[in-house]
Amino acid sequence: MANPVTSVGESLRGMGITLKNFFRKPVTVQYPEQMRQLPPRERGRHVLHRYENGLERCIACMLCSGTCPAAAIYIEPEENDPAQPTSFGERYARIFQIDMLRCIFCGYCQAACPTGAITLESNTALAEYSREKMLYNKENMLEPLGTSTRGAALAWEAPPPPEARAIIPDFKGVFDGWETTGAAVGKGNLTGQVGVQGAPKPVRQSEQSLAPGQAIPNTLPTGRTLGQGSAKEEK
Ligand code: SF4
Ligand code: SF4
Repeated sequence: MANPVTSVGESLRGMGITLKNFFRKPVTVQYPEQMRQLPPRERGRHVLHRYENGLERCIACMLCSGTCPAAAIYIEPEENDPAQPTSFGERYARIFQIDMLRCIFCGYCQAACPTGAITLESNTALAEYSREKMLYNKENMLEPLGTSTRGAALAWEAPPPPEARAIIPDFKGVFDGWETTGAAVGKGNLTGQVGVQGAPKPVRQSEQSLAPGQAIPNTLPTGRTLGQGSAKEEK
């Protein structure tokens, strides 16, 4: 049988804890009436953005679907009507779907997008009653006509603090005659500018065009024969 003195002591200790917390400000929020303020870089529901002139930012380049590790994005591109374009590129996304049941909210699609067309916003109210409703269409995600925001893209523009910088340095320069970034050239180490003495020569300028039916030559643009300098041969 429990010692009555110990039991009373434990009860008093419990009441003391209750009294101590009774007048404290509650840490819970009355969701969904009350929403907690989430960080601007929170990765929630996707939004497709427009330019101020109403054109869709998405040019159906497929980079987002190509980079998506969950294969959650499905796009069907279509050529723009030059008289009434939907986007500023050659193509626009006729169908743009995201299967939110597959999405892992990694944000790779936003990072890969060259036009800032897709962002993940701090809206995490995603629950639905059916699987079909978790398949988001362009209509679910595209900003209404007359609205033009950049969303979470702004929150990611500021450079990261030094301790969060990537180990591999970023790169921006001229590659193949075009100004480009490290992502496009595999974080390479090209130096100098095209046209400047000693700078790497653009590959496309040195390529010979082939006549119809002509066999593809067995040489690389640098003059090396295919197979030379492979890891096996260099051993
Ligand atoms: S957040 Fe990640 S998983 Fe989700 S659609 Fe974008 S790339 Fe795919
Ligand atoms: S959302 Fe961006 S990355 Fe995806 S297809 Fe459109 S322009 Fe390309």
